[in-house]
Amino acid sequence: MLIDGSLVPEGRGGEIASIDPATGQVITTIPEADHLQVDEAVRAAATAMLGRWGSARAEERARVLFDIADRLDADAHSFALLDTLDNGKPLTTATEDIAAAIETFRYMAGWATKINGRTMSMGENGAFHAYTLRQPSGVVGQIIPWNFPIVSIAWKLAPALAAGCAVVLKPAELTSLSALRFAALVAGLDIPPGVINIVTGTGPGVGAALVEHPLVDRVSFTGSGVTGRWVAQTAAATMKRVTLELGGKSPVVVFPDADLDHAIESAANAIFFNQGEVCTAGSRLLVHRDVFDAVIDGVAERAKRLSVGDGFDPETEVGPLISEAHLGRVSHAVEAAIRDGAELLCGGPVKRDSGFFYGPTVLVENRRDAKVSREEIFGPVLVAQSFDGDDLQAVIDDVNDTLYGLGASIFTRDITRAHRFAIGAKSGTVWVNTHLDHGQDVPFGGYKQSGYGRELGEEAVLSYTELKSVKVRL
Ligand code: ADP
Repeated sequence: MLIDGSLVPEGRGGEIASIDPATGQVITTIPEADHLQVDEAVRAAATAMLGRWGSARAEERARVLFDIADRLDADAHSFALLDTLDNGKPLTTATEDIAAAIETFRYMAGWATKINGRTMSMGENGAFHAYTLRQPSGVVGQIIPWNFPIVSIAWKLAPALAAGCAVVLKPAELTSLSALRFAALVAGLDIPPGVINIVTGTGPGVGAALVEHPLVDRVSFTGSGVTGRWVAQTAAATMKRVTLELGGKSPVVVFPDADLDHAIESAANAIFFNQGEVCTAGSRLLVHRDVFDAVIDGVAERAKRLSVGDGFDPETEVGPLISEAHLGRVSHAVEAAIRDGAELLCGGPVKRDSGFFYGPTVLVENRRDAKVSREEIFGPVLVAQSFDGDDLQAVIDDVNDTLYGLGASIFTRDITRAHRFAIGAKSGTVWVNTHLDHGQDVPFGGYKQSGYGRELGEEAVLSYTELKSVKVRL
Protein backbone atom coordinates (compact mmCIF):
# COMPACT_ATOMS: atom_id res chain seq x y z
CA MET A 1 0.00 0.00 0.00
CA LEU A 2 1.05 3.63 -0.17
CA ILE A 3 0.65 5.59 3.03
CA ASP A 4 2.21 9.01 3.61
CA GLY A 5 4.67 8.55 0.75
CA SER A 6 5.95 5.16 1.92
CA LEU A 7 5.24 1.74 0.51
CA VAL A 8 3.71 -0.42 3.21
CA PRO A 9 3.88 -4.16 2.48
CA GLU A 10 1.70 -5.36 5.32
CA GLY A 11 -1.86 -4.78 6.33
CA ARG A 12 -2.27 -4.87 10.08
CA GLY A 13 -5.78 -6.22 9.53
CA GLY A 14 -4.39 -9.35 7.85
CA GLU A 15 -4.42 -10.38 4.22
CA ILE A 16 -6.97 -11.29 1.59
CA ALA A 17 -6.52 -13.91 -1.13
CA SER A 18 -6.65 -12.58 -4.66
CA ILE A 19 -8.33 -15.11 -6.96
CA ASP A 20 -7.83 -15.62 -10.70
CA PRO A 21 -11.44 -15.82 -12.00
CA ALA A 22 -10.35 -17.84 -15.02
CA THR A 23 -9.05 -20.70 -12.83
CA GLY A 24 -10.39 -20.11 -9.34
CA GLN A 25 -6.78 -20.35 -8.10
CA VAL A 26 -5.17 -17.99 -5.61
CA ILE A 27 -2.80 -15.58 -7.40
CA THR A 28 -1.39 -13.92 -4.30
CA THR A 29 -2.56 -12.13 -1.20
CA ILE A 30 -3.24 -8.44 -0.72
CA PRO A 31 -2.99 -6.47 2.52
CA GLU A 32 -6.01 -5.69 4.64
CA ALA A 33 -5.36 -2.35 6.30
CA ASP A 34 -6.60 -1.87 9.83
CA HIS A 35 -8.36 1.24 11.12
CA LEU A 36 -5.10 2.76 12.33
CA GLN A 37 -3.54 2.44 8.87
CA VAL A 38 -6.60 4.09 7.32
CA ASP A 39 -6.28 6.80 9.95
CA GLU A 40 -2.56 7.27 9.13
CA ALA A 41 -3.42 7.62 5.43
CA VAL A 42 -6.18 10.15 6.07
CA ARG A 43 -3.99 12.16 8.43
CA ALA A 44 -1.17 12.13 5.88
CA ALA A 45 -3.58 13.51 3.30
CA ALA A 46 -4.76 16.20 5.71
CA THR A 47 -1.17 17.14 6.45
CA ALA A 48 -0.36 17.25 2.72
CA MET A 49 -3.17 19.78 2.25
CA LEU A 50 -1.49 22.03 4.84
CA GLY A 51 1.95 21.73 3.24
CA ARG A 52 3.58 22.08 -0.18
CA TRP A 53 0.64 20.46 -2.02
CA GLY A 54 -1.95 22.78 -0.50
CA SER A 55 -0.16 25.80 -1.89
CA ALA A 56 1.25 24.18 -5.03
CA ARG A 57 0.99 26.15 -8.26
CA ALA A 58 -1.53 24.79 -10.73
CA GLU A 59 1.35 24.00 -13.12
CA GLU A 60 2.84 21.76 -10.43
CA ARG A 61 -0.40 19.79 -10.16
CA ALA A 62 -0.51 19.45 -13.93
CA ARG A 63 3.09 18.22 -13.90
CA VAL A 64 2.22 15.53 -11.36
CA LEU A 65 -0.65 14.29 -13.54
CA PHE A 66 1.49 14.27 -16.68
CA ASP A 67 4.22 12.39 -14.80
CA ILE A 68 1.74 9.74 -13.70
CA ALA A 69 0.47 9.41 -17.27
CA ASP A 70 4.01 9.04 -18.65
CA ARG A 71 4.92 6.38 -16.12
CA LEU A 72 1.71 4.47 -16.79
CA ASP A 73 2.43 4.70 -20.49
CA ALA A 74 5.89 3.21 -20.01
CA ASP A 75 4.39 0.33 -18.01
CA ALA A 76 1.05 0.00 -19.84
CA HIS A 77 1.41 -3.65 -20.79
CA SER A 78 2.00 -4.74 -17.18
CA PHE A 79 -1.13 -2.94 -16.07
CA ALA A 80 -3.17 -4.61 -18.81
CA LEU A 81 -1.79 -8.03 -17.83
CA LEU A 82 -2.58 -7.45 -14.17
CA ASP A 83 -6.17 -6.43 -14.81
CA THR A 84 -6.76 -9.45 -17.05
CA LEU A 85 -5.22 -11.75 -14.45
CA ASP A 86 -7.15 -10.24 -11.57
CA ASN A 87 -10.49 -9.34 -13.20
CA GLY A 88 -10.60 -11.90 -16.00
CA LYS A 89 -11.47 -9.44 -18.77
CA PRO A 90 -10.06 -10.07 -22.26
CA LEU A 91 -6.55 -8.66 -22.66
CA THR A 92 -7.78 -6.51 -25.57
CA THR A 93 -10.23 -4.81 -23.19
CA ALA A 94 -7.61 -4.44 -20.46
CA THR A 95 -5.27 -2.89 -23.04
CA GLU A 96 -7.97 -0.38 -24.03
CA ASP A 97 -8.59 0.29 -20.33
CA ILE A 98 -5.03 1.30 -19.55
CA ALA A 99 -4.90 3.49 -22.67
CA ALA A 100 -8.12 5.22 -21.56
CA ALA A 101 -6.77 5.65 -18.02
CA ILE A 102 -3.62 7.34 -19.34
CA GLU A 103 -5.79 9.62 -21.44
CA THR A 104 -7.82 10.58 -18.36
CA PHE A 105 -4.66 11.64 -16.50
CA ARG A 106 -3.53 13.73 -19.47
CA TYR A 107 -6.96 15.26 -20.01
CA MET A 108 -7.31 16.17 -16.32
CA ALA A 109 -3.75 17.59 -16.26
CA GLY A 110 -5.07 20.24 -18.63
CA TRP A 111 -7.79 21.23 -16.17
CA ALA A 112 -5.36 21.83 -13.30
CA THR A 113 -4.38 25.18 -14.84
CA LYS A 114 -7.90 26.17 -15.87
CA ILE A 115 -9.88 26.27 -12.63
CA ASN A 116 -11.20 29.79 -12.20
CA GLY A 117 -13.85 31.72 -10.34
CA ARG A 118 -16.10 34.45 -11.73
CA THR A 119 -16.65 38.13 -10.95
CA MET A 120 -19.98 39.78 -10.08
CA SER A 121 -21.12 43.32 -9.33
CA MET A 122 -23.56 42.33 -6.55
CA GLY A 123 -26.22 44.37 -8.21
CA GLU A 124 -25.03 47.84 -7.24
CA ASN A 125 -22.79 49.21 -9.89
CA GLY A 126 -19.50 50.37 -8.42
CA ALA A 127 -20.42 49.73 -4.78
CA PHE A 128 -19.05 46.22 -4.58
CA HIS A 129 -16.53 43.97 -6.20
CA ALA A 130 -17.54 40.32 -5.75
CA TYR A 131 -15.88 37.17 -7.00
CA THR A 132 -15.83 33.44 -6.50
CA LEU A 133 -12.87 31.23 -5.72
CA ARG A 134 -12.74 27.52 -6.49
CA GLN A 135 -10.74 25.86 -3.73
CA PRO A 136 -9.92 22.17 -3.34
CA SER A 137 -12.44 20.18 -1.27
CA GLY A 138 -9.59 18.90 0.91
CA VAL A 139 -9.14 15.24 1.81
CA VAL A 140 -11.03 12.90 -0.48
CA GLY A 141 -11.88 9.25 0.22
CA GLN A 142 -12.38 7.28 -2.95
CA ILE A 143 -13.83 3.78 -3.16
CA ILE A 144 -13.84 1.97 -6.49
CA PRO A 145 -15.33 -1.23 -7.89
CA TRP A 146 -13.77 -4.27 -9.57
CA ASN A 147 -15.12 -4.09 -13.13
CA PHE A 148 -12.70 -1.43 -14.49
CA PRO A 149 -9.85 -1.36 -11.99
CA ILE A 150 -7.31 0.96 -13.65
CA VAL A 151 -9.94 3.11 -15.39
CA SER A 152 -11.66 3.71 -12.04
CA ILE A 153 -8.37 4.79 -10.47
CA ALA A 154 -7.94 7.39 -13.23
CA TRP A 155 -11.55 8.62 -13.16
CA LYS A 156 -11.33 9.20 -9.40
CA LEU A 157 -7.75 10.33 -8.79
CA ALA A 158 -7.05 12.53 -11.79
CA PRO A 159 -9.79 15.18 -11.33
CA ALA A 160 -9.24 15.24 -7.55
CA LEU A 161 -5.52 15.92 -7.99
CA ALA A 162 -6.20 18.47 -10.74
CA ALA A 163 -8.43 20.33 -8.28
CA GLY A 164 -5.69 20.21 -5.63
CA CYS A 165 -7.13 17.62 -3.25
CA ALA A 166 -5.23 14.89 -1.40
CA VAL A 167 -6.62 11.41 -1.77
CA VAL A 168 -7.00 8.13 0.05
CA LEU A 169 -8.14 5.53 -2.46
CA LYS A 170 -9.41 2.04 -1.78
CA PRO A 171 -9.62 -0.39 -4.70
CA ALA A 172 -12.08 -3.29 -4.65
CA GLU A 173 -10.72 -6.24 -2.66
CA LEU A 174 -11.43 -8.48 -5.68
CA THR A 175 -9.13 -6.48 -7.98
CA SER A 176 -6.43 -4.64 -6.08
CA LEU A 177 -3.35 -5.75 -8.00
CA SER A 178 -3.19 -2.89 -10.50
CA ALA A 179 -3.85 -0.40 -7.70
CA LEU A 180 -0.91 -1.83 -5.75
CA ARG A 181 1.34 -1.60 -8.80
CA PHE A 182 0.06 1.95 -9.26
CA ALA A 183 1.04 2.65 -5.64
CA ALA A 184 4.58 1.46 -6.34
CA LEU A 185 4.76 3.59 -9.48
CA VAL A 186 3.53 6.71 -7.70
CA ALA A 187 5.97 6.17 -4.81
CA GLY A 188 8.82 6.69 -7.28
CA LEU A 189 7.56 10.06 -8.50
CA ASP A 190 8.19 13.55 -7.17
CA ILE A 191 4.85 13.96 -5.39
CA PRO A 192 4.67 15.25 -1.82
CA PRO A 193 3.97 12.47 0.72
CA GLY A 194 0.33 12.03 1.62
CA VAL A 195 -1.08 13.49 -1.61
CA ILE A 196 -1.88 10.01 -2.92
CA ASN A 197 -2.54 7.16 -0.50
CA ILE A 198 -3.65 3.70 -1.58
CA VAL A 199 -5.05 1.38 1.06
CA THR A 200 -6.44 -2.05 0.35
CA GLY A 201 -8.94 -4.21 2.16
CA THR A 202 -12.60 -5.06 2.45
CA GLY A 203 -15.51 -2.68 2.09
CA PRO A 204 -16.93 -3.05 5.59
CA GLY A 205 -13.40 -2.75 7.04
CA VAL A 206 -11.27 -0.27 5.12
CA GLY A 207 -14.02 1.32 3.00
CA ALA A 208 -16.26 2.01 5.96
CA ALA A 209 -13.36 3.44 7.99
CA LEU A 210 -12.74 5.90 5.18
CA VAL A 211 -16.37 6.97 4.90
CA GLU A 212 -16.64 7.40 8.68
CA HIS A 213 -13.36 9.27 9.16
CA PRO A 214 -14.00 12.82 10.41
CA LEU A 215 -11.01 14.29 8.51
CA VAL A 216 -12.35 13.12 5.13
CA ASP A 217 -14.11 16.05 3.45
CA ARG A 218 -15.49 14.34 0.38
CA VAL A 219 -16.30 10.75 -0.59
CA SER A 220 -16.49 9.53 -4.14
CA PHE A 221 -17.95 6.06 -4.42
CA THR A 222 -18.66 3.73 -7.33
CA GLY A 223 -20.36 0.44 -6.61
CA SER A 224 -23.67 -1.12 -5.71
CA GLY A 225 -26.81 0.75 -4.73
CA VAL A 226 -26.97 -0.95 -1.34
CA THR A 227 -23.49 0.20 -0.39
CA GLY A 228 -24.03 3.60 -2.01
CA ARG A 229 -27.05 4.23 0.20
CA TRP A 230 -25.03 3.30 3.27
CA VAL A 231 -22.18 5.60 2.15
CA ALA A 232 -24.58 8.54 1.73
CA GLN A 233 -26.20 7.96 5.12
CA THR A 234 -22.89 7.54 6.92
CA ALA A 235 -21.26 10.52 5.22
CA ALA A 236 -24.19 12.66 6.32
CA ALA A 237 -23.02 12.40 9.95
CA THR A 238 -20.18 14.83 9.23
CA MET A 239 -21.81 16.37 6.14
CA LYS A 240 -19.16 15.02 3.81
CA ARG A 241 -19.73 15.86 0.18
CA VAL A 242 -20.63 12.71 -1.73
CA THR A 243 -20.51 11.51 -5.32
CA LEU A 244 -22.22 8.20 -6.02
CA GLU A 245 -22.00 6.23 -9.23
CA LEU A 246 -24.26 3.21 -8.81
CA GLY A 247 -26.08 0.66 -10.89
CA GLY A 248 -28.40 0.72 -13.83
CA LYS A 249 -30.75 -1.21 -16.06
CA SER A 250 -30.03 0.77 -19.17
CA PRO A 251 -32.46 0.39 -22.08
CA VAL A 252 -31.50 0.14 -25.75
CA VAL A 253 -34.42 1.18 -27.97
CA VAL A 254 -34.59 0.13 -31.63
CA PHE A 255 -37.02 1.66 -34.13
CA PRO A 256 -37.70 0.02 -37.50
CA ASP A 257 -36.05 2.85 -39.46
CA ALA A 258 -32.66 2.23 -37.79
CA ASP A 259 -29.66 0.74 -39.57
CA LEU A 260 -30.55 -2.69 -38.20
CA ASP A 261 -27.20 -4.40 -38.71
CA HIS A 262 -25.53 -1.62 -36.78
CA ALA A 263 -28.26 -1.67 -34.11
CA ILE A 264 -27.85 -5.44 -33.66
CA GLU A 265 -24.09 -5.19 -33.36
CA SER A 266 -24.34 -2.28 -30.93
CA ALA A 267 -27.02 -3.95 -28.81
CA ALA A 268 -24.89 -7.09 -28.50
CA ASN A 269 -21.80 -5.08 -27.62
CA ALA A 270 -23.82 -3.00 -25.12
CA ILE A 271 -24.53 -6.07 -23.00
CA PHE A 272 -21.70 -8.51 -23.69
CA PHE A 273 -18.73 -6.12 -23.57
CA ASN A 274 -16.68 -6.75 -20.41
CA GLN A 275 -18.92 -9.76 -19.57
CA GLY A 276 -21.80 -7.35 -19.00
CA GLU A 277 -20.02 -6.18 -15.85
CA VAL A 278 -20.58 -2.58 -16.83
CA CYS A 279 -22.78 -0.14 -14.92
CA THR A 280 -24.18 1.29 -18.18
CA ALA A 281 -24.59 -2.12 -19.85
CA GLY A 282 -27.54 -2.10 -22.24
CA SER A 283 -29.29 -4.84 -20.33
CA ARG A 284 -32.84 -4.14 -21.53
CA LEU A 285 -33.52 -4.23 -25.28
CA LEU A 286 -36.74 -2.57 -26.40
CA VAL A 287 -37.51 -3.31 -30.04
CA HIS A 288 -40.41 -2.21 -32.23
CA ARG A 289 -42.66 -5.17 -33.02
CA ASP A 290 -42.09 -4.82 -36.80
CA VAL A 291 -38.40 -5.65 -36.44
CA PHE A 292 -38.43 -7.51 -33.13
CA ASP A 293 -37.72 -10.99 -34.52
CA ALA A 294 -35.00 -9.77 -36.86
CA VAL A 295 -33.22 -7.82 -34.12
CA ILE A 296 -33.37 -10.38 -31.33
CA ASP A 297 -32.41 -13.21 -33.67
CA GLY A 298 -29.48 -11.10 -34.82
CA VAL A 299 -28.37 -10.38 -31.25
CA ALA A 300 -28.78 -14.04 -30.25
CA GLU A 301 -26.73 -15.12 -33.31
CA ARG A 302 -23.93 -12.80 -32.23
CA ALA A 303 -24.19 -14.00 -28.63
CA LYS A 304 -23.76 -17.63 -29.74
CA ARG A 305 -20.70 -16.76 -31.82
CA LEU A 306 -18.90 -14.91 -29.03
CA SER A 307 -15.93 -16.84 -27.78
CA VAL A 308 -16.00 -17.34 -24.01
CA GLY A 309 -12.70 -18.15 -22.36
CA ASP A 310 -9.57 -17.13 -20.51
CA GLY A 311 -8.88 -13.42 -20.97
CA PHE A 312 -5.30 -14.19 -22.04
CA ASP A 313 -6.48 -16.28 -24.99
CA PRO A 314 -6.40 -13.91 -28.00
CA GLU A 315 -9.64 -15.49 -29.29
CA THR A 316 -11.56 -14.60 -26.13
CA GLU A 317 -14.32 -12.02 -26.38
CA VAL A 318 -16.08 -12.77 -23.08
CA GLY A 319 -13.98 -13.64 -20.05
CA PRO A 320 -15.01 -15.19 -16.74
CA LEU A 321 -17.21 -13.37 -14.23
CA ILE A 322 -15.42 -11.78 -11.33
CA SER A 323 -16.07 -14.39 -8.64
CA GLU A 324 -17.79 -17.61 -7.78
CA ALA A 325 -20.32 -15.68 -5.70
CA HIS A 326 -21.12 -13.41 -8.61
CA LEU A 327 -21.42 -16.36 -10.98
CA GLY A 328 -23.96 -17.79 -8.53
CA ARG A 329 -25.93 -14.52 -8.47
CA VAL A 330 -26.04 -14.30 -12.28
CA SER A 331 -27.03 -17.98 -12.68
CA HIS A 332 -29.78 -17.64 -10.08
CA ALA A 333 -31.17 -14.50 -11.70
CA VAL A 334 -31.46 -16.27 -15.07
CA GLU A 335 -32.91 -19.46 -13.58
CA ALA A 336 -35.48 -17.43 -11.65
CA ALA A 337 -36.41 -15.45 -14.78
CA ILE A 338 -37.00 -18.67 -16.73
CA ARG A 339 -39.05 -20.14 -13.88
CA ASP A 340 -41.01 -16.91 -13.91
CA GLY A 341 -41.87 -17.37 -17.60
CA ALA A 342 -39.04 -15.71 -19.57
CA GLU A 343 -38.03 -17.45 -22.81
CA LEU A 344 -34.35 -18.36 -23.12
CA LEU A 345 -33.03 -17.75 -26.65
CA CYS A 346 -29.42 -18.60 -25.92
CA GLY A 347 -26.79 -18.68 -23.22
CA GLY A 348 -26.72 -19.99 -19.69
CA PRO A 349 -23.92 -21.65 -17.75
CA VAL A 350 -20.76 -22.74 -19.55
CA LYS A 351 -19.23 -26.10 -18.62
CA ARG A 352 -15.59 -25.74 -17.56
CA ASP A 353 -13.40 -27.60 -15.11
CA SER A 354 -12.57 -24.38 -13.32
CA GLY A 355 -13.22 -20.65 -13.48
CA PHE A 356 -16.36 -18.57 -13.26
CA PHE A 357 -17.66 -18.60 -16.83
CA TYR A 358 -21.15 -17.73 -17.96
CA GLY A 359 -22.36 -17.67 -21.55
CA PRO A 360 -23.83 -14.59 -23.27
CA THR A 361 -27.54 -14.93 -22.60
CA VAL A 362 -30.64 -13.53 -24.30
CA LEU A 363 -34.04 -13.76 -22.63
CA VAL A 364 -37.40 -12.57 -23.92
CA GLU A 365 -39.68 -11.27 -21.20
CA ASN A 366 -42.38 -8.81 -22.15
CA ARG A 367 -43.72 -8.21 -18.68
CA ARG A 368 -42.26 -4.91 -17.56
CA ASP A 369 -42.81 -5.75 -13.90
CA ALA A 370 -40.92 -9.07 -14.01
CA LYS A 371 -37.87 -9.07 -11.76
CA VAL A 372 -35.53 -9.66 -14.71
CA SER A 373 -36.99 -6.60 -16.47
CA ARG A 374 -36.31 -4.35 -13.51
CA GLU A 375 -33.25 -5.50 -11.59
CA GLU A 376 -29.61 -5.14 -12.48
CA ILE A 377 -27.88 -8.50 -13.02
CA PHE A 378 -24.39 -7.14 -13.85
CA GLY A 379 -23.56 -10.02 -16.14
CA PRO A 380 -23.88 -10.98 -19.83
CA VAL A 381 -27.66 -11.27 -19.63
CA LEU A 382 -29.98 -9.37 -21.93
CA VAL A 383 -33.74 -9.12 -21.51
CA ALA A 384 -35.56 -8.29 -24.76
CA GLN A 385 -39.01 -6.74 -24.99
CA SER A 386 -41.17 -5.42 -27.81
CA PHE A 387 -43.26 -2.28 -28.19
CA ASP A 388 -45.98 -1.36 -30.67
CA GLY A 389 -46.83 1.73 -32.63
CA ASP A 390 -45.08 5.04 -33.19
CA ASP A 391 -45.98 6.84 -29.99
CA LEU A 392 -42.59 8.06 -28.85
CA GLN A 393 -43.95 9.32 -25.53
CA ALA A 394 -45.17 5.81 -24.71
CA VAL A 395 -41.65 4.49 -25.39
CA ILE A 396 -40.10 7.21 -23.25
CA ASP A 397 -42.52 6.38 -20.41
CA ASP A 398 -41.52 2.73 -20.77
CA VAL A 399 -37.82 3.65 -20.69
CA ASN A 400 -38.35 5.82 -17.61
CA ASP A 401 -40.34 3.19 -15.74
CA THR A 402 -37.33 2.13 -13.69
CA LEU A 403 -35.61 3.12 -10.46
CA TYR A 404 -32.41 3.70 -12.40
CA GLY A 405 -31.24 6.42 -14.78
CA LEU A 406 -27.66 5.85 -15.84
CA GLY A 407 -27.83 5.30 -19.59
CA ALA A 408 -30.36 4.95 -22.40
CA SER A 409 -29.88 4.63 -26.12
CA ILE A 410 -32.05 4.92 -29.21
CA PHE A 411 -31.41 3.56 -32.69
CA THR A 412 -33.30 5.50 -35.38
CA ARG A 413 -32.63 7.61 -38.48
CA ASP A 414 -35.33 10.10 -37.49
CA ILE A 415 -33.48 13.10 -36.09
CA THR A 416 -36.54 14.60 -34.39
CA ARG A 417 -37.38 11.34 -32.67
CA ALA A 418 -33.78 10.98 -31.50
CA HIS A 419 -33.64 14.46 -29.97
CA ARG A 420 -37.09 14.18 -28.37
CA PHE A 421 -35.96 10.90 -26.84
CA ALA A 422 -32.82 12.61 -25.53
CA ILE A 423 -34.95 15.29 -23.87
CA GLY A 424 -37.46 12.85 -22.41
CA ALA A 425 -35.28 10.01 -21.13
CA LYS A 426 -34.54 10.40 -17.40
CA SER A 427 -30.98 9.28 -17.74
CA GLY A 428 -27.55 10.79 -17.08
CA THR A 429 -26.36 9.69 -20.51
CA VAL A 430 -28.39 9.31 -23.69
CA TRP A 431 -26.77 7.73 -26.72
CA VAL A 432 -28.12 7.98 -30.26
CA ASN A 433 -27.15 5.16 -32.65
CA THR A 434 -24.52 3.92 -30.22
CA HIS A 435 -24.24 2.70 -26.62
CA LEU A 436 -21.41 2.65 -24.05
CA ASP A 437 -19.03 5.20 -25.65
CA HIS A 438 -17.35 7.64 -23.30
CA GLY A 439 -15.36 10.81 -23.85
CA GLN A 440 -12.94 12.35 -21.37
CA ASP A 441 -14.66 15.70 -21.83
CA VAL A 442 -18.24 14.43 -21.50
CA PRO A 443 -19.67 14.26 -17.97
CA PHE A 444 -20.89 10.88 -16.80
CA GLY A 445 -23.28 9.97 -13.99
CA GLY A 446 -26.78 9.03 -13.01
CA TYR A 447 -30.31 10.23 -12.53
CA LYS A 448 -32.51 8.72 -9.84
CA GLN A 449 -31.13 5.67 -7.99
CA SER A 450 -28.14 5.44 -10.30
CA GLY A 451 -26.53 8.04 -8.05
CA TYR A 452 -25.53 11.67 -8.12
CA GLY A 453 -22.59 13.82 -9.08
CA ARG A 454 -20.64 13.54 -12.31
CA GLU A 455 -17.32 12.04 -13.36
CA LEU A 456 -15.12 13.05 -16.29
CA GLY A 457 -15.22 16.46 -17.97
CA GLU A 458 -15.02 19.82 -16.26
CA GLU A 459 -17.83 18.74 -13.93
CA ALA A 460 -15.62 16.11 -12.32
CA VAL A 461 -12.90 18.65 -11.57
CA LEU A 462 -15.37 21.17 -10.16
CA SER A 463 -16.92 18.47 -7.99
CA TYR A 464 -13.63 18.33 -6.09
CA THR A 465 -13.78 22.04 -5.27
CA GLU A 466 -15.67 24.19 -2.79
CA LEU A 467 -17.07 27.45 -4.09
CA LYS A 468 -16.24 30.51 -2.04
CA SER A 469 -17.85 33.93 -2.57
CA VAL A 470 -15.80 37.02 -1.71
CA LYS A 471 -17.69 40.32 -1.39
CA VAL A 472 -15.68 43.54 -1.22
CA ARG A 473 -17.31 46.87 -0.34
CA LEU A 474 -15.54 49.56 -2.31
P1 ADP B 1 -20.22 -5.11 -5.57
O1 ADP B 1 -21.38 -5.78 -4.88
O2 ADP B 1 -20.42 -4.92 -7.00
O3 ADP B 1 -18.89 -5.68 -5.22
P2 ADP B 1 -19.91 -3.05 -3.64
O4 ADP B 1 -20.70 -1.80 -3.52
O5 ADP B 1 -20.01 -4.05 -2.53
O6 ADP B 1 -20.26 -3.64 -5.04
O7 ADP B 1 -18.37 -2.72 -3.79
C1 ADP B 1 -17.86 -1.58 -4.43
C2 ADP B 1 -16.75 -1.02 -3.57
O8 ADP B 1 -17.31 -0.61 -2.34
C3 ADP B 1 -15.64 -2.01 -3.23
O9 ADP B 1 -14.40 -1.32 -3.20
C4 ADP B 1 -16.03 -2.46 -1.84
O10 ADP B 1 -14.93 -2.91 -1.07
C5 ADP B 1 -16.59 -1.19 -1.27
N1 ADP B 1 -17.51 -1.37 -0.14
C6 ADP B 1 -18.34 -2.43 0.12
N2 ADP B 1 -18.99 -2.23 1.27
C7 ADP B 1 -18.58 -1.04 1.78
C8 ADP B 1 -18.89 -0.28 2.96
N3 ADP B 1 -19.75 -0.69 3.86
N4 ADP B 1 -18.27 0.92 3.10
C9 ADP B 1 -17.41 1.37 2.20
N5 ADP B 1 -17.06 0.70 1.09
C10 ADP B 1 -17.64 -0.49 0.88
